Amino acid sequence: MKETLASNFEKIYSQKPEVFAQAPGRIEFIGNHTDYNGGYTMGAAIDRVVMVALAKRTDTLLCFASAKSGEIVKIDLKDIKKQPREYNWVNYPLGVFKFLLEAGMKADTGFNMLDMSNLPAGSGLSSSAAIELSTAFALCKLYGFECDLKTKVRIGRKCENLFVGMPCGILDQGVSGFGKKDALVFIDCKSEEFSNAPLPQECKFWLFNSTKKHALVDGMYEARHNECMEAAKILSEGGEDRLLREFSIADLEAKKDKMSANAYKRAKHIIEENRRVLEAKKALEADDIKTVGKLMVASHESSRDLFENSCPELDFLVAEAVKNPHVYGARLSGGGFGGAVLALTDKDFCETDAQKIAEAYQNKFGLKPAVFACSAGDGAKNI
Ligand code: ADP
Ligand code: MG
Repeated sequence: MKETLASNFEKIYSQKPEVFAQAPGRIEFIGNHTDYNGGYTMGAAIDRVVMVALAKRTDTLLCFASAKSGEIVKIDLKDIKKQPREYNWVNYPLGVFKFLLEAGMKADTGFNMLDMSNLPAGSGLSSSAAIELSTAFALCKLYGFECDLKTKVRIGRKCENLFVGMPCGILDQGVSGFGKKDALVFIDCKSEEFSNAPLPQECKFWLFNSTKKHALVDGMYEARHNECMEAAKILSEGGEDRLLREFSIADLEAKKDKMSANAYKRAKHIIEENRRVLEAKKALEADDIKTVGKLMVASHESSRDLFENSCPELDFLVAEAVKNPHVYGARLSGGGFGGAVLALTDKDFCETDAQKIAEAYQNKFGLKPAVFACSAGDGAKNI
Protein backbone atom coordinates (compact mmCIF):
# COMPACT_ATOMS: atom_id res chain seq x y z
CA MET A 1 0.00 0.00 0.00
CA LYS A 2 2.86 2.41 0.85
CA GLU A 3 4.38 2.10 -2.65
CA THR A 4 1.03 2.77 -4.34
CA LEU A 5 0.42 5.73 -2.06
CA ALA A 6 3.89 7.12 -2.89
CA SER A 7 3.46 6.77 -6.64
CA ASN A 8 -0.06 8.24 -6.58
CA PHE A 9 1.27 11.14 -4.51
CA GLU A 10 3.92 11.87 -7.14
CA LYS A 11 1.35 11.72 -9.93
CA ILE A 12 -0.96 14.18 -8.20
CA TYR A 13 1.58 16.62 -6.76
CA SER A 14 4.68 16.13 -9.00
CA GLN A 15 6.72 15.79 -5.81
CA LYS A 16 7.89 12.89 -3.67
CA PRO A 17 6.24 12.47 -0.25
CA GLU A 18 8.51 13.29 2.69
CA VAL A 19 6.74 11.42 5.48
CA PHE A 20 4.30 8.55 5.87
CA ALA A 21 2.16 7.45 8.80
CA GLN A 22 -0.59 4.95 9.40
CA ALA A 23 -3.28 4.40 12.03
CA PRO A 24 -5.62 1.45 12.48
CA GLY A 25 -9.37 1.19 12.78
CA ARG A 26 -10.68 -0.34 15.96
CA ILE A 27 -13.30 -2.64 17.30
CA GLU A 28 -15.13 -1.83 20.49
CA PHE A 29 -14.72 -5.04 22.46
CA ILE A 30 -16.95 -4.17 25.41
CA GLY A 31 -18.02 -0.89 27.00
CA ASN A 32 -20.71 0.72 24.90
CA HIS A 33 -21.01 4.53 25.18
CA THR A 34 -19.19 4.41 28.51
CA ASP A 35 -16.27 6.58 27.36
CA TYR A 36 -17.85 10.04 27.37
CA ASN A 37 -19.45 9.12 30.71
CA GLY A 38 -15.97 8.85 32.24
CA GLY A 39 -16.25 5.07 32.53
CA TYR A 40 -14.35 1.99 31.43
CA THR A 41 -14.10 0.49 27.98
CA MET A 42 -12.01 -2.03 26.06
CA GLY A 43 -11.22 -2.11 22.38
CA ALA A 44 -8.65 -3.49 19.98
CA ALA A 45 -6.85 -1.90 17.07
CA ILE A 46 -7.34 -4.01 13.96
CA ASP A 47 -5.05 -4.92 11.10
CA ARG A 48 -6.66 -2.42 8.70
CA VAL A 49 -5.42 1.15 8.44
CA VAL A 50 -5.61 4.62 6.98
CA MET A 51 -2.22 5.63 5.56
CA VAL A 52 -1.20 9.21 4.83
CA ALA A 53 1.68 10.73 2.87
CA LEU A 54 2.78 14.34 3.29
CA ALA A 55 5.30 16.78 1.84
CA LYS A 56 5.93 20.45 2.58
CA ARG A 57 5.00 23.17 0.10
CA THR A 58 6.81 26.46 -0.35
CA ASP A 59 3.63 28.56 -0.13
CA THR A 60 0.98 28.64 2.62
CA LEU A 61 -1.55 26.29 1.03
CA LEU A 62 -2.81 23.10 2.67
CA CYS A 63 -3.74 20.63 -0.08
CA PHE A 64 -5.82 17.57 0.72
CA ALA A 65 -6.46 14.64 -1.59
CA SER A 66 -7.99 11.29 -0.81
CA ALA A 67 -7.78 8.09 -2.83
CA LYS A 68 -11.58 8.06 -2.55
CA SER A 69 -12.40 11.48 -3.99
CA GLY A 70 -9.58 12.20 -6.48
CA GLU A 71 -10.11 15.95 -6.03
CA ILE A 72 -7.61 18.33 -4.38
CA VAL A 73 -9.09 20.63 -1.74
CA LYS A 74 -6.96 23.75 -1.10
CA ILE A 75 -7.12 25.83 2.05
CA ASP A 76 -4.83 28.69 3.12
CA LEU A 77 -3.23 28.05 6.49
CA LYS A 78 -4.10 31.62 7.51
CA ASP A 79 -7.77 30.90 6.87
CA ILE A 80 -8.64 27.64 8.62
CA LYS A 81 -12.35 27.10 9.02
CA LYS A 82 -14.74 24.18 8.98
CA GLN A 83 -15.42 22.93 5.47
CA PRO A 84 -18.96 22.44 4.13
CA ARG A 85 -20.70 19.07 4.06
CA GLU A 86 -19.44 18.00 0.61
CA TYR A 87 -15.84 18.34 1.82
CA ASN A 88 -16.54 17.06 5.33
CA TRP A 89 -13.75 14.48 5.10
CA VAL A 90 -11.20 17.34 4.97
CA ASN A 91 -12.35 18.49 8.43
CA TYR A 92 -10.65 15.47 10.05
CA PRO A 93 -7.06 16.21 8.90
CA LEU A 94 -7.67 19.98 8.92
CA GLY A 95 -8.94 19.97 12.51
CA VAL A 96 -5.93 17.93 13.62
CA PHE A 97 -3.60 20.48 11.96
CA LYS A 98 -5.44 23.35 13.65
CA PHE A 99 -5.21 21.82 17.14
CA LEU A 100 -1.56 20.84 16.65
CA LEU A 101 -0.82 24.51 15.89
CA GLU A 102 -2.68 25.46 19.06
CA ALA A 103 -0.57 22.93 20.96
CA GLY A 104 2.61 24.69 19.79
CA MET A 105 3.50 23.17 16.41
CA LYS A 106 5.13 25.75 14.11
CA ALA A 107 4.20 25.75 10.42
CA ASP A 108 5.18 28.70 8.21
CA THR A 109 4.46 26.87 4.99
CA GLY A 110 1.69 24.50 3.94
CA PHE A 111 1.71 20.87 2.83
CA ASN A 112 0.43 18.40 0.26
CA MET A 113 -1.42 15.41 1.63
CA LEU A 114 -2.80 12.19 0.17
CA ASP A 115 -4.40 9.33 2.06
CA MET A 116 -5.28 5.75 1.24
CA SER A 117 -7.14 3.16 3.23
CA ASN A 118 -8.17 -0.49 3.42
CA LEU A 119 -10.56 0.31 6.25
CA PRO A 120 -14.24 0.69 5.35
CA ALA A 121 -15.48 4.18 6.29
CA GLY A 122 -18.66 4.82 8.23
CA SER A 123 -19.16 1.22 9.36
CA GLY A 124 -18.36 1.49 13.04
CA LEU A 125 -14.65 0.67 12.75
CA SER A 126 -13.65 4.25 13.40
CA SER A 127 -12.03 5.26 10.16
CA SER A 128 -12.44 8.81 11.49
CA ALA A 129 -10.04 8.19 14.39
CA ALA A 130 -7.68 6.41 11.98
CA ILE A 131 -7.46 9.45 9.72
CA GLU A 132 -7.04 11.75 12.73
CA LEU A 133 -4.23 9.72 14.29
CA SER A 134 -2.38 9.01 11.04
CA THR A 135 -2.50 12.73 10.19
CA ALA A 136 -1.29 13.67 13.68
CA PHE A 137 1.74 11.36 13.40
CA ALA A 138 2.58 12.54 9.88
CA LEU A 139 2.23 16.26 10.68
CA CYS A 140 4.38 16.04 13.84
CA LYS A 141 7.14 14.37 11.85
CA LEU A 142 6.87 16.78 8.90
CA TYR A 143 7.08 19.92 11.07
CA GLY A 144 9.46 18.44 13.65
CA PHE A 145 7.00 18.81 16.53
CA GLU A 146 7.61 16.59 19.55
CA CYS A 147 4.47 15.46 21.31
CA ASP A 148 3.60 12.30 23.18
CA LEU A 149 1.05 9.70 22.17
CA LYS A 150 -1.56 10.77 24.71
CA THR A 151 -1.43 14.33 23.37
CA LYS A 152 -1.97 13.09 19.82
CA VAL A 153 -4.91 10.97 21.00
CA ARG A 154 -6.43 13.96 22.79
CA ILE A 155 -5.95 16.18 19.74
CA GLY A 156 -7.75 13.59 17.58
CA ARG A 157 -10.70 13.58 19.94
CA LYS A 158 -10.70 17.36 20.21
CA CYS A 159 -10.83 17.55 16.40
CA GLU A 160 -13.80 15.20 16.29
CA ASN A 161 -15.65 16.94 19.18
CA LEU A 162 -14.95 20.59 18.44
CA PHE A 163 -14.16 20.78 14.72
CA VAL A 164 -16.15 17.98 13.08
CA GLY A 165 -18.86 18.27 15.75
CA MET A 166 -19.25 14.69 16.95
CA PRO A 167 -19.43 14.36 20.78
CA CYS A 168 -17.52 11.05 20.96
CA GLY A 169 -15.43 9.94 23.94
CA ILE A 170 -11.79 8.85 23.95
CA LEU A 171 -12.31 5.19 22.92
CA ASP A 172 -11.80 5.52 19.16
CA GLN A 173 -8.69 7.68 19.21
CA GLY A 174 -7.32 5.94 22.32
CA VAL A 175 -7.47 2.49 20.77
CA SER A 176 -6.18 3.63 17.38
CA GLY A 177 -3.25 5.22 19.22
CA PHE A 178 -2.52 2.67 21.96
CA GLY A 179 -3.39 -0.55 20.11
CA LYS A 180 -1.04 -3.54 20.44
CA LYS A 181 -0.76 -6.69 18.40
CA ASP A 182 -2.63 -9.61 20.03
CA ALA A 183 -3.88 -7.47 22.93
CA LEU A 184 -6.86 -5.39 23.97
CA VAL A 185 -6.66 -1.77 25.08
CA PHE A 186 -8.30 -1.08 28.43
CA ILE A 187 -9.19 2.55 29.07
CA ASP A 188 -10.10 4.32 32.26
CA CYS A 189 -11.78 7.24 30.58
CA LYS A 190 -11.84 9.42 33.70
CA SER A 191 -8.11 9.43 34.29
CA GLU A 192 -7.43 8.79 30.59
CA GLU A 193 -5.13 5.91 31.44
CA PHE A 194 -4.46 3.29 28.80
CA SER A 195 -3.25 -0.22 29.47
CA ASN A 196 -3.27 -3.54 27.66
CA ALA A 197 -5.34 -6.59 28.55
CA PRO A 198 -4.40 -10.07 27.31
CA LEU A 199 -6.28 -11.61 24.43
CA PRO A 200 -6.12 -15.42 24.30
CA GLN A 201 -4.15 -16.61 21.27
CA GLU A 202 -6.85 -19.00 20.14
CA CYS A 203 -9.50 -16.25 19.76
CA LYS A 204 -10.49 -14.50 16.56
CA PHE A 205 -12.64 -11.48 15.78
CA TRP A 206 -15.26 -11.74 13.08
CA LEU A 207 -17.09 -8.63 11.96
CA PHE A 208 -20.49 -8.64 10.32
CA ASN A 209 -21.32 -5.27 8.88
CA SER A 210 -25.09 -4.88 8.70
CA THR A 211 -24.56 -2.36 5.84
CA LYS A 212 -27.39 -0.49 7.45
CA LYS A 213 -26.64 3.03 8.57
CA HIS A 214 -29.32 5.09 10.18
CA ALA A 215 -29.57 8.39 8.31
CA LEU A 216 -29.76 10.30 11.59
CA VAL A 217 -26.97 8.40 13.30
CA ASP A 218 -24.95 11.46 14.37
CA GLY A 219 -28.07 13.13 15.76
CA MET A 220 -29.04 9.99 17.65
CA TYR A 221 -25.56 9.67 19.10
CA GLU A 222 -25.86 13.24 20.31
CA ALA A 223 -29.32 12.53 21.78
CA ARG A 224 -27.92 9.62 23.81
CA HIS A 225 -25.01 11.79 24.92
CA ASN A 226 -27.46 14.46 26.13
CA GLU A 227 -29.66 11.93 27.97
CA CYS A 228 -26.60 10.62 29.83
CA MET A 229 -25.60 14.16 30.78
CA GLU A 230 -29.15 14.86 31.97
CA ALA A 231 -29.08 11.78 34.22
CA ALA A 232 -25.63 12.69 35.56
CA LYS A 233 -26.78 16.22 36.34
CA ILE A 234 -29.76 14.96 38.34
CA LEU A 235 -27.61 12.43 40.18
CA SER A 236 -25.08 15.18 40.98
CA GLU A 237 -27.68 17.54 42.47
CA GLY A 238 -26.57 18.95 45.80
CA GLY A 239 -22.88 18.34 45.05
CA GLU A 240 -20.30 19.01 42.37
CA ASP A 241 -21.08 17.93 38.78
CA ARG A 242 -19.97 14.36 38.25
CA LEU A 243 -20.21 11.96 35.30
CA LEU A 244 -22.25 8.71 35.38
CA ARG A 245 -19.11 6.72 36.15
CA GLU A 246 -19.27 7.99 39.75
CA PHE A 247 -22.69 6.56 40.59
CA SER A 248 -24.07 3.19 41.67
CA ILE A 249 -27.37 1.51 40.82
CA ALA A 250 -28.53 2.38 44.37
CA ASP A 251 -27.85 6.10 43.67
CA LEU A 252 -29.82 5.81 40.46
CA GLU A 253 -32.80 4.04 42.04
CA ALA A 254 -32.96 6.72 44.74
CA LYS A 255 -33.41 9.44 42.11
CA LYS A 256 -35.43 7.46 39.57
CA ASP A 257 -38.56 9.58 40.04
CA LYS A 258 -36.67 12.79 39.37
CA MET A 259 -35.61 11.92 35.83
CA SER A 260 -37.22 11.03 32.52
CA ALA A 261 -37.75 7.35 31.76
CA ASN A 262 -35.14 7.60 29.00
CA ALA A 263 -32.50 9.23 31.20
CA TYR A 264 -33.03 6.44 33.76
CA LYS A 265 -32.62 3.66 31.17
CA ARG A 266 -29.51 5.22 29.62
CA ALA A 267 -27.91 5.68 33.05
CA LYS A 268 -28.73 2.12 34.11
CA HIS A 269 -27.03 0.83 30.96
CA ILE A 270 -23.90 2.91 31.56
CA ILE A 271 -23.56 1.99 35.25
CA GLU A 272 -24.01 -1.74 34.57
CA GLU A 273 -21.85 -1.65 31.46
CA ASN A 274 -18.94 -0.21 33.47
CA ARG A 275 -19.22 -3.19 35.81
CA ARG A 276 -19.29 -5.60 32.85
CA VAL A 277 -16.08 -4.09 31.44
CA LEU A 278 -14.27 -4.62 34.75
CA GLU A 279 -15.62 -8.17 35.00
CA ALA A 280 -14.53 -8.90 31.44
CA LYS A 281 -11.01 -7.63 32.20
CA LYS A 282 -10.81 -9.91 35.24
CA ALA A 283 -12.11 -12.87 33.24
CA LEU A 284 -9.54 -12.23 30.49
CA GLU A 285 -6.76 -12.15 33.06
CA ALA A 286 -8.05 -15.50 34.39
CA ASP A 287 -8.23 -16.88 30.83
CA ASP A 288 -11.96 -17.46 31.35
CA ILE A 289 -13.11 -16.70 27.83
CA LYS A 290 -16.58 -18.21 28.27
CA THR A 291 -17.42 -15.59 30.90
CA VAL A 292 -16.11 -12.88 28.56
CA GLY A 293 -18.47 -14.16 25.86
CA LYS A 294 -21.45 -14.07 28.22
CA LEU A 295 -20.61 -10.51 29.23
CA MET A 296 -20.49 -9.52 25.54
CA VAL A 297 -24.00 -10.88 25.01
CA ALA A 298 -25.26 -9.15 28.18
CA SER A 299 -23.72 -5.92 26.89
CA HIS A 300 -25.59 -6.28 23.61
CA GLU A 301 -28.89 -6.95 25.39
CA SER A 302 -28.42 -3.86 27.51
CA SER A 303 -27.65 -1.73 24.42
CA ARG A 304 -30.78 -3.15 22.82
CA ASP A 305 -33.17 -2.76 25.76
CA LEU A 306 -31.83 0.09 27.86
CA PHE A 307 -29.63 2.25 25.67
CA GLU A 308 -31.82 1.57 22.64
CA ASN A 309 -29.03 2.00 20.11
CA SER A 310 -29.42 -1.37 18.43
CA CYS A 311 -31.73 -2.20 15.52
CA PRO A 312 -33.41 -5.40 14.25
CA GLU A 313 -30.54 -6.04 11.83
CA LEU A 314 -27.88 -6.03 14.57
CA ASP A 315 -30.08 -8.06 16.96
CA PHE A 316 -30.54 -10.68 14.26
CA LEU A 317 -26.82 -10.93 13.52
CA VAL A 318 -26.04 -11.37 17.23
CA ALA A 319 -28.76 -14.03 17.64
CA GLU A 320 -27.51 -15.96 14.59
CA ALA A 321 -23.86 -15.71 15.62
CA VAL A 322 -24.35 -17.03 19.15
CA LYS A 323 -26.14 -20.13 17.78
CA ASN A 324 -22.77 -21.28 16.46
CA PRO A 325 -20.84 -23.39 19.01
CA HIS A 326 -17.53 -21.75 18.00
CA VAL A 327 -18.79 -18.30 19.03
CA TYR A 328 -18.06 -17.23 22.61
CA GLY A 329 -20.13 -14.06 22.38
CA ALA A 330 -21.33 -11.33 20.04
CA ARG A 331 -22.47 -7.74 20.35
CA LEU A 332 -22.90 -4.53 18.46
CA SER A 333 -19.56 -2.76 18.24
CA GLY A 334 -19.43 1.04 18.08
CA GLY A 335 -22.01 3.78 18.25
CA GLY A 336 -24.90 1.58 17.17
CA PHE A 337 -28.02 2.42 15.12
CA GLY A 338 -26.61 0.19 12.37
CA GLY A 339 -22.95 -0.56 11.77
CA ALA A 340 -21.23 -3.78 12.71
CA VAL A 341 -21.58 -6.79 15.00
CA LEU A 342 -18.44 -8.27 16.54
CA ALA A 343 -18.29 -11.99 17.23
CA LEU A 344 -15.53 -13.42 19.41
CA THR A 345 -14.83 -16.93 18.18
CA ASP A 346 -12.50 -19.83 18.75
CA LYS A 347 -9.90 -20.69 16.11
CA ASP A 348 -12.17 -23.28 14.43
CA PHE A 349 -14.83 -20.80 13.38
CA CYS A 350 -14.38 -20.56 9.61
CA GLU A 351 -15.52 -18.76 6.49
CA THR A 352 -18.32 -21.33 5.95
CA ASP A 353 -19.69 -20.59 9.42
CA ALA A 354 -19.55 -16.87 8.68
CA GLN A 355 -21.27 -17.30 5.33
CA LYS A 356 -24.12 -19.23 6.98
CA ILE A 357 -24.82 -16.24 9.22
CA ALA A 358 -24.51 -13.88 6.26
CA GLU A 359 -26.98 -15.94 4.21
CA ALA A 360 -29.55 -16.06 6.99
CA TYR A 361 -29.22 -12.28 7.27
CA GLN A 362 -29.58 -11.76 3.55
CA ASN A 363 -32.69 -13.98 3.43
CA LYS A 364 -34.32 -11.97 6.16
CA PHE A 365 -33.34 -8.40 5.29
CA GLY A 366 -32.39 -8.57 1.60
CA LEU A 367 -29.04 -6.93 2.44
CA LYS A 368 -25.68 -8.57 1.89
CA PRO A 369 -23.54 -8.08 4.99
CA ALA A 370 -19.84 -7.46 4.59
CA VAL A 371 -18.01 -10.14 6.58
CA PHE A 372 -14.38 -10.22 7.55
CA ALA A 373 -12.06 -11.69 10.11
CA CYS A 374 -9.44 -9.57 11.77
CA SER A 375 -6.93 -9.72 14.55
CA ALA A 376 -5.62 -7.21 17.04
CA GLY A 377 -2.96 -5.05 15.41
CA ASP A 378 -0.54 -2.28 16.42
CA GLY A 379 -1.49 1.34 17.03
CA ALA A 380 -0.65 4.46 15.00
CA LYS A 381 2.94 5.03 13.88
CA ASN A 382 5.22 6.66 11.35
CA ILE A 383 6.23 4.24 8.61
P1 ADP B 1 -16.37 5.58 11.31
O1 ADP B 1 -15.44 6.37 12.12
O2 ADP B 1 -17.08 4.53 12.11
O3 ADP B 1 -15.75 4.96 10.10
P2 ADP B 1 -17.52 8.15 10.95
O4 ADP B 1 -18.81 8.63 10.38
O5 ADP B 1 -17.15 8.58 12.32
O6 ADP B 1 -17.50 6.58 10.80
O7 ADP B 1 -16.32 8.63 10.03
C1 ADP B 1 -16.35 8.38 8.65
C2 ADP B 1 -15.86 9.64 7.92
O8 ADP B 1 -14.45 9.80 8.14
C3 ADP B 1 -16.00 9.54 6.42
O9 ADP B 1 -17.30 9.91 6.01
C4 ADP B 1 -14.94 10.52 5.96
O10 ADP B 1 -15.42 11.84 6.06
C5 ADP B 1 -13.84 10.34 6.98
N1 ADP B 1 -12.84 9.37 6.50
C6 ADP B 1 -12.70 8.10 6.88
N2 ADP B 1 -11.68 7.49 6.23
C7 ADP B 1 -11.17 8.41 5.42
C8 ADP B 1 -10.11 8.42 4.47
N3 ADP B 1 -9.35 7.35 4.25
N4 ADP B 1 -9.90 9.56 3.79
C9 ADP B 1 -10.63 10.64 4.01
N5 ADP B 1 -11.63 10.71 4.88
C10 ADP B 1 -11.90 9.61 5.57
MG1 MG C 1 -15.96 7.71 13.71
